[in-house]
Amino acid sequence: MDDLQFGKRNKRGDWTPNEPVALAPLFRLPFSLRAFFAWLPHYFLPWNLLFAASAVAYWAWIIPPVETMRTLGWGWPLYLYAVNALATFLFYGAFELNLYVLKRQDRRFKYNGRFPAEQKNKAFWFERQNLDNILRTFLSGVTIWTACEVLVLWAFANGYAPWLAFADHPVWLACLALAVPVIHEFHFFCIHRLIHTPFLYRWVHSVHHNSVNPSPWSSLSMHPVEHLLYFGTVFYHLILPSNPVLALYQLHYASFGAIPGHVGFDKVEVGEDHAIDSHAYAHYLHHKYFEVNYGDALIPLDKWFGTWHDGSPEGEARMNDRYRRRKARLAAAAAEKARRTGTAANP
Ligand SMILES: [Zn+2]
Ligand SMILES: [Zn+2]
Repeated sequence: MDDLQFGKRNKRGDWTPNEPVALAPLFRLPFSLRAFFAWLPHYFLPWNLLFAASAVAYWAWIIPPVETMRTLGWGWPLYLYAVNALATFLFYGAFELNLYVLKRQDRRFKYNGRFPAEQKNKAFWFERQNLDNILRTFLSGVTIWTACEVLVLWAFANGYAPWLAFADHPVWLACLALAVPVIHEFHFFCIHRLIHTPFLYRWVHSVHHNSVNPSPWSSLSMHPVEHLLYFGTVFYHLILPSNPVLALYQLHYASFGAIPGHVGFDKVEVGEDHAIDSHAYAHYLHHKYFEVNYGDALIPLDKWFGTWHDGSPEGEARMNDRYRRRKARLAAAAAEKARRTGTAANP
């Protein structure tokens, strides 16, 4: 495919889309039914449907019988870890292999013209981004994901959480299934904003941000504390009346769903003239500029809090203006502090 029909490439080889990132029409005012129906297929296809289907497949073929899950032990949690690790290896590995190892679509639709493995960097374990990202994914990422999964399934199996059957509550559970991405967005925005506070950023979130030029394996490359907060999104299903399948969908949305946002390409080519939108640009800009786009555009939280960057020159100008104002504020506060201490020292 000719990516220059959809965007432009600068001298460094970085590709940017022509169209700014659009906010989902779900919470946009005034509400437009036409925009909503035009957007709806993108809400389901292909990613959300894929993660919902994987949750159903897990429930049908992977998750142990309820009697087994009533007791916590090593057997079934280790088995679930093995399945999650294998699924991650295959799913993440497929993107990595095609786009970053075999480079099947070269740099077409690639935001950053360079491939991460080309440079060594002291910020990473063994100075290798990929190795660091892979180790963090399997050591703490899949482990904490599985631990949350085990805890929630165990709670459902023992009746500690309200378990509704699809046959008895189809409308409520269908609404909750539709809300899974909205819950994720809300939860992710809140924890993401929290871990961008100076102390937590330094000790926790900087690990994820070491990947300024993210690749598929960067998706779950996080500090264990961030993994816990990130996968904690599943615990909403212990409070809301829900069903274990929806809890699994919530987890898969977080685990497998982290991939599209970090794939580094705007479109993933499928065959000669078809491509799937990754919807990754907003989060790519977050990795590039750090203090924009704490969420993804499903709920316009960034717009409401003034941190939205849609990739347009106006978005860039708004961000630079915000940085300038903050710098001026900090300089004024420092000058005021210096003046006060100066006055105290020379009364
Ligand atoms: Zn990220
Ligand atoms: Zn961040």
